Amino acid sequence: MKAAVVKETSPGEHRVALVPEAINRLRPAGIDVLVESGAGDGAWLPDAAYADAGASIVSAAEIYRTADVILTVTRPSAAAVNELRTGQAVIGMLAPLADPELAATLAARGVTAISLDGLPRTLSRTQPMDALSSQSNVAGYKAALVAAAEFGRFFPMLITAAGTARPAKVLVLGTGVAGLQAIGTARRLGAVVSGYDVRPASKTEVESLGATFVELTSVGSAAGQGGYARELTAEERQAQQEELTGHIARHDVVITTAQVPGRRPPLLVTEDAIKAMAPGSVIVDMGASALGGNVTGSRPGETVVTGNGITIVGAENLAATVPTAASNAYSRNISAMLLHLTKNGGLAIDTSDEIQAGVVIAHDGKVVHDGVASLLLPAAPSPHPTQGGPGVDGPSD
Ligand code: NAD
Repeated sequence: MKAAVVKETSPGEHRVALVPEAINRLRPAGIDVLVESGAGDGAWLPDAAYADAGASIVSAAEIYRTADVILTVTRPSAAAVNELRTGQAVIGMLAPLADPELAATLAARGVTAISLDGLPRTLSRTQPMDALSSQSNVAGYKAALVAAAEFGRFFPMLITAAGTARPAKVLVLGTGVAGLQAIGTARRLGAVVSGYDVRPASKTEVESLGATFVELTSVGSAAGQGGYARELTAEERQAQQEELTGHIARHDVVITTAQVPGRRPPLLVTEDAIKAMAPGSVIVDMGASALGGNVTGSRPGETVVTGNGITIVGAENLAATVPTAASNAYSRNISAMLLHLTKNGGLAIDTSDEIQAGVVIAHDGKVVHDGVASLLLPAAPSPHPTQGGPGVDGPSD
């Protein structure tokens, strides 16, 4: 079986799906690796390193002509999708809940689509394949560094002949994988750190990192299914925003990471909260997206400074800004997935397997993933027939 690594094409995407050291691990399973020339350049992995490890360096055209499996980090571009043909498979983080149309297009082309984002994450045997966790971990680390770089004072307490600097007070809202890594990194930089989440289980994790857990009296547990949070009701949301405002005002730096699967990110930092912060404070919004983020006024990929001197960083794809670490981890995840799917030198698709049921999105000309297929159903008849079909999301704030 020929597995091919293509050069990522989205703007700012410096990661690569496989690093050279993966090639030796795939060979015993009968997998030969093709690498598009320059695919690893963004992660400082030259063609020569792949060739030395035993890969063939080829053109994109040869990949689409000869490869059985295409390995990507993110969704293939429209041009790349047009090159894919019946019988080929694509494996990557395809975000099918956000873009179900891509799954439908790939199915129509007879392409098998496998998305690492659908992995059941709480099974111990899926840990090596968990790309959402590995990339969130990298992004959380970088979020703390971005915050420190934007902040006009030190993170640690420093006692020097020129005076004593008090440590920065950092608040992390949403303490899943990214939030915990942001806490750990801010602590290593010497800040005094607090964390908050709607899942009570995260309290011990926050405290084990030496941070203080913020408990809100107005909002109870919002633990949902599979270890994720559920969406808050409108009343809970308002109570949460109001109570958080006081906590936010007492911190110099706020890093937000809150997400609810398949929904728009919850708004945690309101305009009132931003107004209550001291000039020079910094907010890094890891939830920033085209749909809106965790912070009023944040825009993905942009840094804005408010009238009262608060810097708001709309963090976008932070994992791609630490490309070698992110690619090393992703390469292990996607290799583990590829090996899980491979039998007798070919892909063995079997959606009765618990892991495959989560990750196989399209196969044999059909969208086979129930959650994605349901997003593609025509909208129920409504009094407003001109409105579009169901999206990933409804209004939340
Ligand atoms: P995520 O990216 O979906 O969300 C980030 C965090 O935002 C979560 O902790 C969530 O609880 C929080 N959040 C959502 N709405 C919020 C709100 N209104 N206010 C405050 N916080 C809010 O989360 P993730 O990092 O992907 O992790 C999700 C869960 O999966 C966690 O429980 C994590 O421990 C778990 N997980 C488990 C394993 C495993 O069992 N091996 C592996 C990976 C992740």
